[in-house]
Amino acid sequence: MEQKRRILLADYPLLPLDEEVVEKLHGDALDWAHANGLVMRTREARDRSDVCMTAPFALLPSPFPRELFQHAVKVQNDIARLYLQLAHERDFLMKCHAQVIKTDDFTRKMVEIYEKVMDEGLVQPFTLAIQRSDYMAHKDSFGSELSLKQIEVNNIASSMGGHAERVTRLHRRHLAELGYQLDEISSACPDNEPISMIGEALHKAWTIYGKKDACILVVVENVNQNQIDQRLVEYDLEKRGIGSRLVHRQTLTQCYESLTLDSEKRLLYKNNTEVAVIYFRSGYSPEHYPTDREWDARLMMERSQAIRTPWIGLQLANTKKVQQVLAEDGVVERFSASPRIAASLRSTFAGLWPLNSNDPSIKKIVTLAEKNPHCFVLKPQLEGGAGNYYGDEIAEKLRSLSIEEKDAHILMERLSPDVVKNYLIRANQPVLLADVVGELGIYGYAYGVHGDREIIARTGGHILRSKGKDVNEGGVAVGAAVIDSPFLY
Ligand code: ADP
Ligand code: MG
Ligand code: MG
Repeated sequence: MEQKRRILLADYPLLPLDEEVVEKLHGDALDWAHANGLVMRTREARDRSDVCMTAPFALLPSPFPRELFQHAVKVQNDIARLYLQLAHERDFLMKCHAQVIKTDDFTRKMVEIYEKVMDEGLVQPFTLAIQRSDYMAHKDSFGSELSLKQIEVNNIASSMGGHAERVTRLHRRHLAELGYQLDEISSACPDNEPISMIGEALHKAWTIYGKKDACILVVVENVNQNQIDQRLVEYDLEKRGIGSRLVHRQTLTQCYESLTLDSEKRLLYKNNTEVAVIYFRSGYSPEHYPTDREWDARLMMERSQAIRTPWIGLQLANTKKVQQVLAEDGVVERFSASPRIAASLRSTFAGLWPLNSNDPSIKKIVTLAEKNPHCFVLKPQLEGGAGNYYGDEIAEKLRSLSIEEKDAHILMERLSPDVVKNYLIRANQPVLLADVVGELGIYGYAYGVHGDREIIARTGGHILRSKGKDVNEGGVAVGAAVIDSPFLY
């Protein structure tokens, strides 16, 4: 059999491309984007889809080391299994958050719900985690080789899968247009199908619930610019026989009105349809719970037989605080199935520290962060891409936080990925050739019955989010990054 040619960094297109080539690719890409759903609602009209705009994307895939990509794919099933288990480790989770909840109301509310449902006993032992684990290919300050370092894991509302798979298809087209052979393209741009992976996971949960008239509840935000990306999951479910009649989109506020719990803890939608699965695409931010009603709705869901992805335990296991504690000596080892798996996971951990510690070496690092904040990121217990502190803000924040508030934050080593060039495409803006850095996300799921040995895990799909090299925040939704895909070398 003919050996596939190894793709090298030298095989990457030489930039800048001819202006005419860029213009042609750009024009073609905009048509292709609209013909294939690579679109978002506009910032001005986040509540309707009649006028949508091109989602921000990179014109070409960005170079990413193949070996690091493969490592990220390889550890994904173990990460998903780890979190499935952590969610049930009550003592561990309580200990992690004991200080955090003194000042962080959002985490405290989650802890309260968790304790209530654990005291009451879980009526639904089946759990499903749909994840995206995010990484950077980090070059340390000695400029040595790149290594794969985890930014964070997301157990809730892992988004952009629909756009990511479209950008892979688009990038393959562009490489073909630039003269690459099919085998080179498939080697540099691996298959990418996160939506069918998510659809498969939700379908599996719905099947396990076992009632053909029961519905899937998608918990959404009031308004959402990323509506189309979410809907692509529902269209995949439709192909699997769960049509729109059995899928209901509701905000947490609406859930308070539309859901009831019967005497057997079946969750009913509008008093007649049983809810089999709850898929949270919202519920990860304090804003999603403006009043106690939304928390009441969440508690009702958590007490029910419905399969929640994620259930409150999985969400609580997913805080930045738990990420930091996992990196402490012996902790990820304690929860891993084998030393080999633990070592493989640990190799992806960046430096992570609490702000309050009696350990002299950690004290030293916190002092270093005050003097040299550009080497760190300071994180509260938030999700959604807009809560972190960088650079001088860190020094300022460290001065203003009370001792107790410090317990609700963690300190992380600032990662610095390789800078590469790419063309960034944003609606209504000229093409921009920029120096960018990328964040790789790997999608996966795990499910099982708590206490059973058999946990099924699968990895499926990836995303690269690229942003200007000097931009701090990373999200596509917050306008920082564009959707990209890796060119593996
Ligand atoms: P969130 O859950 O809000 O997405 P993240 O931990 O992913 O929080 O941080 C948001 C963004 O901040 C990331 O997408 C990344 O661009 C940037 N970031 C986070 N941690 C680091 C880090 N250690 N080094 C460099 N950038 C980081
Ligand atoms: Mg997150
Ligand atoms: Mg993130």
